Amino acid sequence: MSAHKPLTTTQMTDLINGLHRLAHNLWWTWNQEAQEVFQELSPRAWRNLFHNAVAILHEVSDYELRIRLQNPFFAQKVTDALHKFEKYLNEPATWASEHMPHLKEAPVAYFSAEFGFHETLPIAAGGLGALAGDHTKSASDLGLPFYGMSLFYREGYFQQSIDQDNWQTEFYSLLNPKNLPIEQVVNAKGEPIVCTVEIGRNIVHFQAWRVNVGRVEVFLLDTNRPENEPHFKDLTLRVYGGDSTTRIMQEVLLGVGGVILFRKLGIHPGVFHMNEGHAAFLTLELAREKIAEGVGFDHAIEAVKQECIFTTHTPVEAGHDRFSADLMHYVLGRYASHLQVDFDQLMDLGRVHKGSSQEPFCMTVLALRCSRAANGVSELHGEVSREMWQALYPGRSIKDVPIGHITNGIHLMGWMKGPLRNFWKRHLGDSWDRTVNETEFWQKLEDPEYISDEELWALRYELRREMIEFTRRRLLLQEHYLDRQHYIAFDHLLNVDALTIGFARRFATYKRAPLIFQQFNKIIDLVRDSRRPIQFIFAGKAHPRDEEGKKFIQHIIHLSKYSELKGHLVFIENYDVHVCRQMVSGCDVWLNNPRRPLEASGTSGQKISCHGGLNLSILDGWWREGYDGQNGFAIGPDSHPESVEEQDHIDSENLYRTLVEQVVPLFFQRDANGIPRAWLKKVRHAMATLTPQFNTWRMVKEYSRKYYTF
Ligand SMILES: *Cc1c(COP(=O)(O)O)cnc(C)c1O
Repeated sequence: MSAHKPLTTTQMTDLINGLHRLAHNLWWTWNQEAQEVFQELSPRAWRNLFHNAVAILHEVSDYELRIRLQNPFFAQKVTDALHKFEKYLNEPATWASEHMPHLKEAPVAYFSAEFGFHETLPIAAGGLGALAGDHTKSASDLGLPFYGMSLFYREGYFQQSIDQDNWQTEFYSLLNPKNLPIEQVVNAKGEPIVCTVEIGRNIVHFQAWRVNVGRVEVFLLDTNRPENEPHFKDLTLRVYGGDSTTRIMQEVLLGVGGVILFRKLGIHPGVFHMNEGHAAFLTLELAREKIAEGVGFDHAIEAVKQECIFTTHTPVEAGHDRFSADLMHYVLGRYASHLQVDFDQLMDLGRVHKGSSQEPFCMTVLALRCSRAANGVSELHGEVSREMWQALYPGRSIKDVPIGHITNGIHLMGWMKGPLRNFWKRHLGDSWDRTVNETEFWQKLEDPEYISDEELWALRYELRREMIEFTRRRLLLQEHYLDRQHYIAFDHLLNVDALTIGFARRFATYKRAPLIFQQFNKIIDLVRDSRRPIQFIFAGKAHPRDEEGKKFIQHIIHLSKYSELKGHLVFIENYDVHVCRQMVSGCDVWLNNPRRPLEASGTSGQKISCHGGLNLSILDGWWREGYDGQNGFAIGPDSHPESVEEQDHIDSENLYRTLVEQVVPLFFQRDANGIPRAWLKKVRHAMATLTPQFNTWRMVKEYSRKYYTF
C-alpha cells in the first residue's frame, strides 16, 4: 500500500468489516499484532473496558474509524493482522488434517460447564474453565474438527470485593451480549434458533450464542427467552449459581439441551467429551435417541458408551455432583419414560451399587458408566481416581480400573505476555511464534550463549516491574486498603528488587492459602532482612458459600494491613484471567501448597515457566511429574501422612525450610554485576524442561491419539 494514496471505498469497507470479524473471534486474544490494533484505537478504552475489542469498536465512531484508517501506518497494521487472521482460518494443512483425518466427518463435541477464554467473557469459576478454554484454543491451532458446548451465564461468575472487615463480598454485573465477542445463533432467515428441553413437567425454551475461538465454535445455551417463566429465564443467570435444584436443571440444559442443539444445527459429533461430570446427562439424551429408534435400553447404553469419553478433574468429594432420588425424580422422572425404563433403572446409572435405594445419583458415576474411556488429569490423579472409583468395577484390582490419565497443560500463546513476546520477536523475527510449541525452541535456552544471563535477567526485571505497577494500580482501587489509619503509600508499595512470591487460585480450603503463615515468626524474621528483600502477592476467590475459604482471605488481608508483614504482603481483589496473566509473568516464585493428593493437576504453575519464574510446590498434581530436582523447588517428599493436622504442620515446616535454605539464598547469590547466575541456571532448565511438556498442544494431541480416535 502506497503511503499517500487514500484507500478506496472498497478497501475501507473491507478493513472495517474485517475489524468487526476480528473483534468477534477470540483469535485476537492470543495474537499480539491483532491485539495492538484494538489497543491503539483507544488506549484508555482498552484499559477501562477491560480489553474488550467489541466494546472498543462501539466506543470508536464509524466516522473516527474511517479517518484513523486513512493513516497508512495504521491501515497497514490492520491489513497485516487481518491477513494473518485469514491465513490462520483458511490453512488447509494442519496437524489434525494430517494425523486425524477421520475426525472431519465425525468431529469432537467438548462439553464443559465453564470456559475461561478471556476477561471479557467471565463465564468460568477457576482452573477447570481455564483448562477448557486452553483446550479449545489448542484444538483450533491444531486444526481439530471440534465444537464446544456450555451455558451463557448473563451474570457470569461473581466479582469479588473486600469490605472494611476484610470479608469477601460478592457482586454480579449483567453482561450485555452486544458488547461481547459472541453472536446469536440464527437460522437462514436471520431469526434466533430456539430449541426446547424438558425439565420436570416443564418445557423450557433456550437460544444459543456462538463464540468463535479461531477455527472452533463454542455454543453457549441461554434460557433467557420470553416464552419461559421467570425462574426458568434465570436458570442460566450465574456460573454454578443457586441451590442443587438450579444446579441439576443447569446440567440437564447443558447435557440434554446441548445434544438437541447439535442435532438442530446438523452437527454430528463422533466423540462426546465430557469435561467433568456436569455434562454427563448428555449420555441420557444420546440413549433416548437410540431408544426412540427401537433399540433396547441396555444396547442403547452400550452404543452411547462407544461415543463418549470422560475427564474427571478432582479427588475432592464435594467436587462430584450428587443428587437425591427425590430431586432426580422431580427433574428427570418423566425422562425415564422416554428411556422406556423404570425410574429406578435410571437412578442405577448414577449409583455405585445398583439397587441401593439410599444412594444418591452421582454425575461422575453416570459419566464413567457411559463412556468408553475415562481419565484423570495427572499421573497421581489417575492413580487416586482408580482407587476412588474401584467399587464401580467389581472384581478388578485397582490397577485394572479403566481410568487413565492425561496431564493438563496451558495454551502457551494465550499466556505469554507482551514483553516476553517482544523479547522473542527481537531475537527471532516476526515469525518467532511458529515454533513456540516445539521442544527445541525451549531446549536451546539451556545454553547461555544463545540468550545471555544479562538479557534473561533484564527480561525478569521488566516483567516484575510490569506486575508491580499493575498491582499498585489495582490496590489503589481497593477501598479496604484506603482507610486513613492504615494508609499505604501506593507508589512505594512493593519493591521491584525483591524476591516476589505469588499465590493465586480459588481459595478452596484444601489449597491451604495461609499455610506459609503458620510459621509466622520465622517469616517475619525473613522479611526483616532488608539486604534480602522478599514480598508476597496473593489473590483468589472463595466460593460464596465457603466460610472457611473466606476466613483464609480475611486472615491474609489482616496480616497485610496490621502485622509486620505490612508492605511485604498484599492481596489483589477479584482474581481472574487478567490478574492471573499479570501474576504468572511477574512473580519469581509460584507457591502451591495443596493438601496432597487433592490437587488433581493445577495449571497456574505451568503458566510461569515460559516467563522465567520458578515453582515452589508440594509434589502433587502436575508438579510431581514436572519436578526433576533442578527445575524448581519441591516442598517435602513424594508421600503424605494420613492425619490432616500432621500433614499441615509438616508441610508448613518443609515449606519454610525450602524457602529459607534453598530459594532465598539462591535468589540473592549475585556476581559482581548483580546477576544471580545459579538462579538463572534453574530458570533456564525450567523453561527447557517444563514449557514444551506442560502445554495444551501436547495435551490435545494426546487426547486425540488416545481418545479421539475410534
Ligand atoms: C490458570 C487459572 C487457574 C488455575 O489455577 P490452579 O493453581 O491450577 O488452581 C485458576 N483461575 C484462573 C483465572 C486461571 O487462569
